[in-house]
Amino acid sequence: MIPLAVKKLVFYAYKKGMVKMLGCIFCQVAAREKPATLLYEDDQCVAFQDINPKAPVHILVIPRKHISSLNDEIKDEGLLGHLLVVAGRMAREKSIDRSGFRTVINTNAEAGQTVFHLHVHVLGGRIMAWPPG
Ligand code: 5GP
Ligand code: ZN
Repeated sequence: MIPLAVKKLVFYAYKKGMVKMLGCIFCQVAAREKPATLLYEDDQCVAFQDINPKAPVHILVIPRKHISSLNDEIKDEGLLGHLLVVAGRMAREKSIDRSGFRTVINTNAEAGQTVFHLHVHVLGGRIMAWPPG
């Protein structure tokens, strides 16, 4: 039997994003427990190549702390801005900034979200259709 105080402590730490979501593959990538082709990292985020690219350039930018999606209550608005700044930096590094690139955040099933750790897709290197399918 786990004491209530321990349960409360773990829940508090989880809510603060201090514990990695068990079984979350992107938390594992951020912690370098799961291999990925890392392109950039800092104290707030990690950028790596998508394992199943949908364009010649397909990079994912994720926060280090676990946020499931934009449906979460996100108090750290600066973090969301930082993800987009890093997305732009990735586009410049891959030289798709001038030709054009697309940033996408899928939220929940109908939008096609399959990994429930917030991620910004950075796609480029080919002509993109609009509207997206
Ligand atoms: P979503 O469909 O949730 O918007 O995007 C999830 C993305 O994560 C997909 O493009 C998928 O190819 C990618 N992905 C899924 N599992 C892995 C993995 O283990 N490693 C990497 N690098 N990408 C993954
Ligand atoms: Zn996670």
